[in-house]
Amino acid sequence: MAEPMKFAVAGAGGRMGRMLMKAVLVHPGCELVAAFDRREAKAQGEDAGVLAGLKPAGITVRHDAATALDVADGLLDFTGPEATLSYAPETAKRGSVHIIGTTGLSDAQEEQLRKLTEGARVVRAGNFSLGVNLVCALTKAVAERLGPDYDVEISETHHRHKTDAPSGTALMLGRSAAEGRGIDLAQNMVSGRDGITGPRKEGTIGFSSIRAGEVIGEHTVLFAGLAERLEFKHVATDRALFAGGALAAGLWGRSREPGFYTMMDVLGL
Ligand code: NAD
Repeated sequence: MAEPMKFAVAGAGGRMGRMLMKAVLVHPGCELVAAFDRREAKAQGEDAGVLAGLKPAGITVRHDAATALDVADGLLDFTGPEATLSYAPETAKRGSVHIIGTTGLSDAQEEQLRKLTEGARVVRAGNFSLGVNLVCALTKAVAERLGPDYDVEISETHHRHKTDAPSGTALMLGRSAAEGRGIDLAQNMVSGRDGITGPRKEGTIGFSSIRAGEVIGEHTVLFAGLAERLEFKHVATDRALFAGGALAAGLWGRSREPGFYTMMDVLGL
């Protein structure tokens, strides 16, 4: 049997950080070797197992990413744009697998990320669930068949703590629709409608975001024609869904050539 894959978890005190540590700790093919977070994070000095809701794991949360990456084969990174950009050269330098779930990067930061991760094995996804990636594939296929007289609207709901909108998942779905139609999303995207917006422009892809309570993540893709409507809906009911997908991506990435992959590659979609 292959050696367990050694993972470090960034943002260890965060909602996803805790889930990722739990997923690694209970997976027989994985080993948690380091956990880290911002210097000022409340999780500093805490035991990773306890933070994950399990028994103590003997791994203390620290703030030094470089030391953590020295002992890991892969980094699970669901943090913030600045943090992810700061870890990228470290994983590239070591040729580690870098699993990036962080959302909210600007276009310029996305471009910077591509450059900084040259040499690394990156799997990047706005959503690591099988279901959402299947909905992306369906959205692309349907958008290929239905013309611009079918309005595409993507709506999403997330918990009140989320800081970016539209969500990374909504953007993935929008990109899938745009690819299906053979258009550029940035040129055709409409979000945050307010006031006298005028009639809907044909061929645009609309986004709306709700922030409320503790909703983990809900997404709907609507294709609305004059005489029919199609809707694809995905509801995440447990963050373990994303952690499990991220871990599967990490294990998959271990035997790949350096490159910038997505969850679609991992799932063979
Ligand atoms: P959170 O706020 O609970 O946790 C973020 C963690 O990152 C915190 O521990 C924070 O201290 C740490 N962090 C932030 N900035 C940092 C920095 N500069 N240096 C070091 N650590 C830093 O948020 P969350 O709900 O866990 O989500 C984290 C990210 O993952 C968000 O971007 C979210 O949209 C994304 N997310 C992605 C998926 C997916 O499947 N791709 C699923 C869920 C969440």
